[in-house]
Amino acid sequence: MRKVSIFGATGSVGQNTLDLISRNPDDYDVIALTGGGNIAQLAKDAVRLGADVAVTAFDDKLDDLRSALSGSGVQAAAGQAALIEVGARPADWVMSAIVGAAGLAPGIEALKQGATLALANKETLVCAGPLVLEMARTHDARLLPVDSEHSAVFQALVGEDMTSVERIIITASGGAFRDWPLSDLAGATVEQASNHPNWNMGQRITIDSASMFNKALEVIETKEYFDVHPSKIEVLVHPESMVHALVGFQDGALMAHLGAPDMRHAIGYALHWPERRDLPVERLDLARLGQLRFHAPDEARYPALRLAREVMERGGLSGAIFNAAKERALDHFIERRIRFLDMADAVSDVLERFEAADGLIDAPLTLDNVQQTDHLARKWVDETVLERAG
Ligand code: NAD
Ligand code: MG
Repeated sequence: MRKVSIFGATGSVGQNTLDLISRNPDDYDVIALTGGGNIAQLAKDAVRLGADVAVTAFDDKLDDLRSALSGSGVQAAAGQAALIEVGARPADWVMSAIVGAAGLAPGIEALKQGATLALANKETLVCAGPLVLEMARTHDARLLPVDSEHSAVFQALVGEDMTSVERIIITASGGAFRDWPLSDLAGATVEQASNHPNWNMGQRITIDSASMFNKALEVIETKEYFDVHPSKIEVLVHPESMVHALVGFQDGALMAHLGAPDMRHAIGYALHWPERRDLPVERLDLARLGQLRFHAPDEARYPALRLAREVMERGGLSGAIFNAAKERALDHFIERRIRFLDMADAVSDVLERFEAADGLIDAPLTLDNVQQTDHLARKWVDETVLERAG
């Protein structure tokens, strides 16, 4: 039996992971499940799967969780320290599916104990790529991509030599507003941005898909995970979301990965790697589909993509700043304090302010520095937003 833990078990990726695991309950010994405010779901799954411990990220939810688990034999815990503690509990395979930079520290704990970390949490590599990869090496742990594009690239690279890779193309659906006239974007509402044409995901990543901040994070994630020069990474808008990524080799060959937009493809690949096992996903009928469309992204429409290029060029802590500023700007958009296009402006302003503050971006890439920088970037977004409002 493999010991598994799922961080962010109550979310979209987390629930898809539990779906796969619960189809073969005898194969897995569930150690820890973590969640946020959805205590009923967390407790139900922890009991159903016989987890050792269930953790809510929020201290004030501990009583609720305790009551929900009473008599079940599942231990209840809450708060940041508890998330770190369960990260360190021995497991063979850990799913990192917390949303945001909050996923970084628990994932690092899992790497430190030598677990295989299946990484849906792209923020981990955006904020601290070199640090996390070094952790994995030092502790003989393994990092497997779960973001669908990165899983697709990873699969296209099986048996290949990275030196023969000419380019990596990750696709983007274009999100909720891909067919909107540019002039309408300024007035886009939270509800409109929260509606993805192809994928069913958490609200935050769905809005990030509409703004392309999600793709911006993924471009950086590609650079970090596959250690390729940014000039080799391309983004292609592909409205059907069937081709997840393509790898171009020096002989001109392109290897594409196709599948229905269902995260269980990528989760299942990481769960069973290096084997392939049967997965309960749709088998594509290309004849019925008829055609697949592709076009280049319009940078005027998606300033996030330009910002990602700047971040990759700048290096240091700029990824942590970029992500934190984006997360905070997204909070303000969701809480209706700023408009859709203001998010990119706020992130851009904060990156500039860090650039002007001597030495901050180039401080050593440690977890402490990432967390402090993250904190400051969020504070500066708040200031920017207040200033604009006033
Ligand atoms: P979600 O919002 O559906 O779920 C997030 C999970 O994190 C929940 O369990 C929630 O309780 C928990 N959480 C929220 N805030 C937390 C905090 N501060 N501390 C600890 N836990 C917290 O998100 P999702 O769509 O499942 O995405 C999870 C991660 O996977 C993100 O990094 C996202 O970018 C990535 N990802 C998601 C998809 C997808 O299809 N949903 C695809 C690719 C990558
Ligand atoms: Mg993705």
